[in-house]
Amino acid sequence: MAYIEPAPIKDEQNPFEAMMSRFHIASQILGIDDEVYNVLKTPVKQVIVSLPVTMDDGSIKVFEGFRVIHSNILGPSKGGIRFDQGVNLDEVKALAAWMTWKCAVVDIPYGGAKGGIKCNPREMSSGEIERLMRAYTLAMIEIFGPDRDIPAPDMGTGPREMAWLMDEYSRTQGMTINSVVTGKPLVLGGSLGRTEATGRGVMVSTLAAMEKLKINPYKATCAVQGFGNVGSYAALLLEERGVKVVAVSDLSGTYYNENGIDIQEAIDFRNDNNGSLEGYENAENMGGDEILTLDVDVLVPAATEDVITSHNVDKIKARLIVEGANGPTSAKADAVIAEKGIMVAPDILANAGGVTVSYFEWVQNRLGYKWTGERVNRRSDRIMKDAFDNVYKTSQEYNVSMRIAAYIVAIDKVARTYKYRGGF
Ligand code: NAD
Repeated sequence: MAYIEPAPIKDEQNPFEAMMSRFHIASQILGIDDEVYNVLKTPVKQVIVSLPVTMDDGSIKVFEGFRVIHSNILGPSKGGIRFDQGVNLDEVKALAAWMTWKCAVVDIPYGGAKGGIKCNPREMSSGEIERLMRAYTLAMIEIFGPDRDIPAPDMGTGPREMAWLMDEYSRTQGMTINSVVTGKPLVLGGSLGRTEATGRGVMVSTLAAMEKLKINPYKATCAVQGFGNVGSYAALLLEERGVKVVAVSDLSGTYYNENGIDIQEAIDFRNDNNGSLEGYENAENMGGDEILTLDVDVLVPAATEDVITSHNVDKIKARLIVEGANGPTSAKADAVIAEKGIMVAPDILANAGGVTVSYFEWVQNRLGYKWTGERVNRRSDRIMKDAFDNVYKTSQEYNVSMRIAAYIVAIDKVARTYKYRGGF
């Protein structure tokens, strides 16, 4: 397999460096011009705003908000808004670029963007979060737009925040414009199938990869890290397809049962338990990061960034890793994964089901017409399967990993579009 030495990585935990390292390798393999390389490595727009918000106790607190548009060459930029204490410009830049590559891999007509606010939503009241979201929307009023930049939820935000964003944006325009944001509640023009879309895409990618590796789903075991939106639906849908999910985890620990976990029952437990698996009794709590190194066929990291690193990659036993999370594997771990012969369905491919159904939501809003859940699932499954097959074919053609192949597919599409459009 062709292996090109990546640019030296100074900080293994820096997601922007992780993204750039793979971008660099794929660009070299493709032999793209220096000019296009330089255009693609730099976001087209980076906006930082300060957001003064009246807190419930009457004080005024100033929050820092970000929006990075990495590329809008393929269409309006698309990407979620993250509420987290650790949000910073480098992280938002990496996530924005990943969105560009992700949309290109699944061949939907969007560029990539990402936003974030440095805050801890768990310590804020609903009123404080609403004022913050509305302030952010107003600050970004010239950035957002159904044909310019379309936000969506990410960690720490959900349909509720998207409803406030849509409302604030619509007020400034004097009419209801629901296509400015996706991931909305159903009554506001959200799409059927959006909630489970990312987990569903993870399931489709897993089954497609198992077929290539000749793993029988009915004889396979799986471990899923993270039991939020992505992890719990991925686990549930894999279980439905016959895979035995022997372990799931969240911040409270790793829950293992060699006979398989009843995923719907674990979801019900989590829903009644403030979103946590803490105290779940039908599996043994092994604690910590044990989930990553269990003896299973398939590992689905669906929690957060940089969990598979040079420090633990040699202990991984799975034959297949399907990345539900964005950036769960550090660039330094890639070489060891290749040496061990583990197949990775990379993030920009495997978790693209969410943005695909977000695209369907936007299409439905613009049509003023609602699709059935069956139509949404059928079309998104087809897109995910076609994208997997295309990346797999590219990996064979260039003799590279699935991750580098996904970057090749994406960068090639964006670079060719630049060539045609020109205008530098
Ligand atoms: P979420 O907030 O719903 O769930 C996150 C889960 O991960 C929680 O169960 C949390 O307890 C757990 N977790 C966090 N850190 C952990 C750790 N260190 N070890 C074990 N568990 C941990 O978030 P989500 O929407 O499911 O997103 C998960 C990942 O998937 C993120 O990387 C996100 O960017 C990515 N992603 C989400 C979507 C989407 O549609 N929601 C789409 C594409 C990618």
